[in-house]
Amino acid sequence: MKHANLSIFVPHMGCPQSCSFCNQRNISGAEKPPTSAEVTRLCNTYLPKAEQGSNTEIAFFGGSFTAIDYTFMVALLQAAYPFVQQGRAAGIRISTRPDAIDANILNTLKQYGVTAIELGAQSMDDEVLKANRRGHTVQQVCAAAQAIQAHGFSLGLQMMLGLYGEQDACAYAQKTAQAFLALCPDTVRIYPTLVVAGTQLAEWYTQGQYTPLTIDAAADICAQLIPAFEAADIRVIRVGLHADESLASTVLAGPYHPAFRQIAESRIYLHKMQQGFASRLKGTYTVCVPKGELSTAAGQKKCNLQQLFKQGYTVTVKEDAGLCKKYREIAIL
Ligand code: SF4
Repeated sequence: MKHANLSIFVPHMGCPQSCSFCNQRNISGAEKPPTSAEVTRLCNTYLPKAEQGSNTEIAFFGGSFTAIDYTFMVALLQAAYPFVQQGRAAGIRISTRPDAIDANILNTLKQYGVTAIELGAQSMDDEVLKANRRGHTVQQVCAAAQAIQAHGFSLGLQMMLGLYGEQDACAYAQKTAQAFLALCPDTVRIYPTLVVAGTQLAEWYTQGQYTPLTIDAAADICAQLIPAFEAADIRVIRVGLHADESLASTVLAGPYHPAFRQIAESRIYLHKMQQGFASRLKGTYTVCVPKGELSTAAGQKKCNLQQLFKQGYTVTVKEDAGLCKKYREIAIL
């Protein structure tokens, strides 16, 4: 069944922190919090348009939902919940901080039809969390994740790549990914760190204290993480921030690209082809890829094929409907 979200942004107001990379007003594209009347209007406007059989969830994103004023949080949930009861929405998703979860909050969320909770973990290294002023620890991520699962919610975990203080971004990403795998989340989001105007990170960047990842480096790391999560049946529901004009205009530096996920997935194919050719003589080959994957396998502007050509392999790609898209199977002829 096709998944979709009706996203309702609840901006910075709920968050007591000032994480180094966050200017929540820019990221959410919204300055004022929604009212419960607006939630009702949005649901009435957009849910009836959901495709027949679609699995649309009402998603309160953008800030730390469970850290906002409790009465206001409940009012937003009360506005959304009737649409779940009527079967017009499959459930409600929220995103929040690990230290804004406890048994009372979880019971309230359950009472109002919340089905999925995403935790902004960002890193599973305490030094990196501290350096980026996250205000929570790895242990709090683990405790919140376990409590969410024990209450029967779907668990989502969000991580960032190339945070301030990471000397080796790939090693830190692997550490966080391994810790996520141990927590068995249902979904994961991977966000390369961007330097957004008005943040502490922007100051460090202009002072020469922070160097962001390149698109290439970030894509290479994602090309290792995505298959690792998928192999554990964890859905990677986002790679890179949502392409958005208001965001793009505030990004000062960093691996931002509107098609970042495709670049990362394309890199997975490149790595697979390079592995496949490692034991083959240089020459001309056809690489079969799953249906619908031709352009991803070839890479943007055929960059994968050019890279292989430089290594001595002249490659054409063709579709083979028998290959599995989920596992990005390839066959070299
Ligand atoms: S906890 Fe989330 S909303 Fe709050 S400052 Fe950090 S990233 Fe932004």
